[in-house]
Amino acid sequence: MIRHETLNPPPHIYPINEWKIIETSFYPRFLAQTETIFSIGNGYLGMRGNFDEGKPSFQSGTFINGFHETWPIIYGEEAYGFAKTGQTMLNVTDGKTIRLFIDDEPFHLPTASLMLYERILDMQAGTLDRKVLWETPGGKQVFIESRRLVSFEHRHLAAISYQVTVLNAKALVVISSELAGNQPNQRGKGDPRQARGLNGRSLLPCKHYATKERIVLGHQAKESGMTLACGVDHLFETECEYTVATECREDFGKTVFSIEAQPGKPFYLEKFIAYHTSRSAPAEELCERSEWTLNHARKRGFNNLAQSQRSYMDDFWARSDVRIEEESSSAKRPAGEVQQTLRWNLFQILQAVGRAQGSGVPAKGLTGQTYEGHYFWDTEIYLLPFLTYTAPHLARNLLLFRHSMLDRARQRARELSQKGAMFPWRTINGEEASAYYAAGTAQYHINADIVYALKKYVEITGDNALLFQEGAEILVETARLWADLGFYSKRRGGRFCINGVTGPDEYNTVVDNNTFTNLLARENLWYAADTVRRMREENPDHYATLVHKTAFDPAEAQEWQKAADRMYIPYDEELGIHPQDDNFLDGKIWDLENTPRDKFPLLLHFHPLVIYRHQVIKQADVVLALFLLGNEFSADRKKRNFDYYDPLTTGDSSLSACIQAIVAAEIGDGKKAMKYTRYAMLMDLADNGGNVRDGVHIAAMGGTWMVMVYGFAGLRDYNGRITFDPRLPPSFKSLTFPLEIRGRILDVQVEAETTTYRLRTGSELTIFHQGQEITLHPGKPARMKIVPAAIG
Ligand code: BGC
Repeated sequence: MIRHETLNPPPHIYPINEWKIIETSFYPRFLAQTETIFSIGNGYLGMRGNFDEGKPSFQSGTFINGFHETWPIIYGEEAYGFAKTGQTMLNVTDGKTIRLFIDDEPFHLPTASLMLYERILDMQAGTLDRKVLWETPGGKQVFIESRRLVSFEHRHLAAISYQVTVLNAKALVVISSELAGNQPNQRGKGDPRQARGLNGRSLLPCKHYATKERIVLGHQAKESGMTLACGVDHLFETECEYTVATECREDFGKTVFSIEAQPGKPFYLEKFIAYHTSRSAPAEELCERSEWTLNHARKRGFNNLAQSQRSYMDDFWARSDVRIEEESSSAKRPAGEVQQTLRWNLFQILQAVGRAQGSGVPAKGLTGQTYEGHYFWDTEIYLLPFLTYTAPHLARNLLLFRHSMLDRARQRARELSQKGAMFPWRTINGEEASAYYAAGTAQYHINADIVYALKKYVEITGDNALLFQEGAEILVETARLWADLGFYSKRRGGRFCINGVTGPDEYNTVVDNNTFTNLLARENLWYAADTVRRMREENPDHYATLVHKTAFDPAEAQEWQKAADRMYIPYDEELGIHPQDDNFLDGKIWDLENTPRDKFPLLLHFHPLVIYRHQVIKQADVVLALFLLGNEFSADRKKRNFDYYDPLTTGDSSLSACIQAIVAAEIGDGKKAMKYTRYAMLMDLADNGGNVRDGVHIAAMGGTWMVMVYGFAGLRDYNGRITFDPRLPPSFKSLTFPLEIRGRILDVQVEAETTTYRLRTGSELTIFHQGQEITLHPGKPARMKIVPAAIG
């Protein structure tokens, strides 16, 4: 079910372009949305698409992945073991503002008379560009051209080039380039997804100084103790007369250029912005590091940085681009929209992950503070497939980051009276930050999701080093948790049952035997048992280290194997489906048809108890298991389950539609597959979720890649066996993408009747096309017929 109207940005203002997001006039109605849509970032540093002059804005935002404040979670009624420490990613010092005055008249978009306006997010260049021609009230024509980038090459650096030319007259031009600390943080207004807001100032000033055109501000977060430094520096060039002055106080600094502009003679400014953060180094030291970054940036200059940005993007697209040719006759939508949307989604993922070393990926990337900048299972289940196949080193970093949380996860398991490790449902620093345990902590499946992603990563990359070192430790501790959490139930014929958990669907919480959880826990247990066995036989050194680190006893592996083999998987004979949990089918069916549209998402309009007593689903749960562990279900069982759960699914979570699309494609429901695909793809560009102003939906973006590759090209990779069963929608002429598999790059091109597999690099690769084995060699593409043709 789709519960929201789509709100497409009007094409006369936002024309479709396959490589760019374009805004052709200043359009205040889309101000909040476009701040998110035009965001730029590199996975460490993110900047909302605020205008150069800072105003107008919905939220001026600059975020650093993992840079957060902590606060005590206050409960009306405490209970033992509740999460104690809230964590909020902070809005950091803003260095992107450059104000402009002509003859003392400020340039202010809403009131300016604009002869030209164009803003472009260029996904090939990795820059945000703007051109404006402003006619001042005095009739002077001022051409302003700016370009902003957050460098992928230099993790700590952003840069802006800003050029002003008064075309038809002399004028006094003042450019004030600013650096402003203590920015306001998002304060939720009745929407639990938004950041709750912080009282008072969170960032305490530690140091501030200016030298020539350089300003540096150092801060420390009051409670978390994390430190931050931000420095800006400038290069400039002009033939006009000018003066320049820099001033700086505790929370604010600016460099002001006063220029006696001559007609047609530009003033060209380059602004470099450096950020450093730390959990342990003092702010003073970070100020120094910022200066080093600035020194380097000055030497490189903007153009050089822009070139390296371009090379990085070229490499990214060569490894990740998904190309779609559409049938022109079928285009109900503007030509190129699917391509543009898909690329933008992939670009946003890169911007959320690219340089995220040592941290996770917030649910909103670095585009907003909603969900407080927390990391969820979104990363493992929705993003890692894309990264594993296109940028395995990034997938590796994220898995290592999870491993770095293991000690806290062990501690958390103890707090919950459990053995092994319990990963937090949502977190920045590794501690559980979910204040509503029913839809948070109870999502034990996070453990199995991490293992699912680890297994896929290892099978696709062949990275046994990661498996045998960090991976095995995760496996041992998560398997211990499952073995301890469940029990053999007499009433269920001695089967291994897991009670009191919440599955992915947050509209049914603290349930017994959630099918999804039991299935994924079973995988987790099997994989753990199998891996330690393999290690003992193949890799005694790593095995010895593992035993030493985890006090592992081989009898445990037997226990895991037994629990997995006897895992209880709920099944209803009469309906031929897997109940979502033991009681789900007993609930009253929610009348979705007669629920007014303005009552969605249900979570904002109904008490949880009302929702919980119904058969109504926030997001794919059993249906997600049908996809993730598709080899465990017959085709008929998939169809029955999908047909049962689909009408109960509200799609109130952005994580749902992509999964429904993949399973619909698999069971041959082409119409639904396309409907959900479109909904998932346009989640943010058309504001399908209704909250793009608060940031992008990173999981849905990873989901759209999965729809193309798993849904339409029909990739399945169970246990590392690569199979394709393409099902191209009739509106697509072709679908082309690369996959990196065990060090080789495979290019896949699906057309209506054939699929071509080409090995771009690597010596040999075996895959399966509709059950037929093919061994590929470079220079020898295999063109295979698709039987049957497209889905209808
Ligand atoms: C979903 C979760 C998801 C979270 C962050 C929630 O609305 O129900 O599954 O992890 O959003 O994206």
